Amino acid sequence: MSEKTKILLDEDEMPTQWYNIVADLPEPPPPALHPGTHQPATAEDFAPLFPKALVEQELSTERYIDIPGEVLDVYRLWRPSPLFRARRLEKLLDTPAKIFYKYEGVSPAGSHKPNTAVPQAWYNAREGIRKLTTETGAGQWGSSLAFACVQFGLECEIWQVAASYLAKPHRRTMMETWGGKVHPSPSNVTEFGRKLLAENPDHPGSLGIAISEAVSEAMEDETVRYALGSVLNHVLLHQTIIGEEALLQLAKVDETPDVLVGCTGGGSNFGGLAFPFLREKLSGNINPVVRCVEPAACPTLTKGEYRYDFGDTEGLTPLMKMHTLGHGFVPEPIHAGGLRYHGMAPLVSHVYELGLVEAIAVPQLECFSSAIKFARSEGIVPAPEPTHAIAATIREALDCKESGQEKTILTALCGHGHLDLASYDRYLRGEMKDLELSDDVIKKAMLDVPEIV
Ligand SMILES: *Cc1c(COP(=O)(O)O)cnc(C)c1O
Repeated sequence: MSEKTKILLDEDEMPTQWYNIVADLPEPPPPALHPGTHQPATAEDFAPLFPKALVEQELSTERYIDIPGEVLDVYRLWRPSPLFRARRLEKLLDTPAKIFYKYEGVSPAGSHKPNTAVPQAWYNAREGIRKLTTETGAGQWGSSLAFACVQFGLECEIWQVAASYLAKPHRRTMMETWGGKVHPSPSNVTEFGRKLLAENPDHPGSLGIAISEAVSEAMEDETVRYALGSVLNHVLLHQTIIGEEALLQLAKVDETPDVLVGCTGGGSNFGGLAFPFLREKLSGNINPVVRCVEPAACPTLTKGEYRYDFGDTEGLTPLMKMHTLGHGFVPEPIHAGGLRYHGMAPLVSHVYELGLVEAIAVPQLECFSSAIKFARSEGIVPAPEPTHAIAATIREALDCKESGQEKTILTALCGHGHLDLASYDRYLRGEMKDLELSDDVIKKAMLDVPEIV
């Protein structure tokens, strides 16, 4: 057994293909539907939004897809990312469990999001697109896309949820440093934004609204496309580089996970880590428990319904079968901005329905107290989103202590929290609260979800 704390891969050991779990699922996932006709969405339906290559990936049933050479070149700026054995956290918890975490905070933007931003920008540039539009919450995705666009000479225009635009100016500066143009959302730039601002000049915005604005701008211009940072099949596909690397790294130290946990907002870092391990589980090589962890204030998997809904608030996107709280649901302003989305990736929803993964919801105070334990033992200050995964990892490790089981736990630390210190400040001063979500609020938002027969 290896004593290593930091398990590294050489540059030339980096995987050169993404893994498409659709090829191996016992049942195919339900197709996306055209928002008007409710017929299965075709490549043409996606064409105004995404370049051909990404639409092909969205609908693909191929098991492996080659990563283009120029994308690998950019990945090499920070990949392969390190896998750590959390020995100091294990010691602090006095647990017999072994804890491993895959650290994605080493990317330029400080999270896993550049893993998909880079290929999305590259495929768009190759098809002659001039500009990408997108939405962002806390700014993780917007900054990742701005970084990716500037690598390939594309313009980048970003609608940032107004509450975050005001509260998190440093991410905006990062987007602008990489050449991005940023609007608070709702904005005066789009018709939908103007309508919402007329109703409420201090509208705090939401991810669903920002998506509507970015999508409508892309649909108006042939040379502009839209980019989404989570939820879609091609996004989860690109993120599988995380799990493929982690499989190789664990093999180096002769370990297989008994439990795998990841935080789920739209599902991309979770799917990216978990899907290659689910491939091994489906083929009978390993049998880990795989657990999604979501915020108690936005419990898409544990409290949402599995049905067709829109990806955005205005209802412009194709309908996707997913766990949803309703496209009109506006989550409370919890600190994990990246987890405040009304839906869950159709692929993550599907594997949950198939019983291949389970889900729990965790309140934010437990997340931050867990993050403090992690920072004081392992050193890294986690982004608010992966504090959910850390809280669930600590729960599991303490269960192991109770039962004396030596389980191996794997999680993703999908970003650092250097630009989220205001949240830590509130926690440390005792100003953070747990936010209760009533079933009535969910019921009300579900009323607007279309009935599909
Ligand atoms: C965006 C983001 C998330 C949520 O998105 P997923 O698609 O669920 O991964 C989680 N963590 C970080 C650090 C993020 O930036």
